Amino acid sequence: MHELALADSVVKAALNVADDAGMDRIERIVVKVGELQQIKRDLFEFSLTTVLPTTDARLAGVEFDVSEEPVRFQCRSCGTEYGRDEAGIDGDGDQGEAIHFIPELSHAFARCPSCGSPDFDIQAGRGITLVRIEGSGDDDPE
Ligand SMILES: [Zn+2]
Repeated sequence: MHELALADSVVKAALNVADDAGMDRIERIVVKVGELQQIKRDLFEFSLTTVLPTTDARLAGVEFDVSEEPVRFQCRSCGTEYGRDEAGIDGDGDQGEAIHFIPELSHAFARCPSCGSPDFDIQAGRGITLVRIEGSGDDDPE
C-alpha cells in the first residue's frame, strides 16, 4: 500500500529527528503533503494516526498535523513564480482533478501569467515534507 509506505517513511524520519534531538516522546508531527502528490489523503492519515503509532513507544499519544502544500510553478523563460490560480488552472474543474492524479499533465494546462510560456519548474507542491516535530526528552524540565 503506497500510502502506508509514505506514512512509514515520514514516521521513520521523525524518529530519526527525535533520536538526534534526544527526545524520547514525540507529541506532535507536522507534515505537508504537496498538492501534486499522488496520494489518498484519508488512507495516508489513517496510516499515520492509527497504524504507525503502535510500532514505537515514543509515538504513544502522538498528534499529526497534516496540511496541503499548494503547488508553485517557476517559469523557465522569465523566472516568474506563480500558483495554480495564476497558471489558469481551474482548481474545481476537470483540469484540477486531472492534475491531482497526473502531475505531468500540469504541463499541458499551466501557462506563465507574465509571458505565457508553458515551460516551468515545479518549486513546491510535490512530495511529502516533514515540517517539524515536537516532543520531550529526559532532560526536559517539565
Ligand atoms: Zn514567464
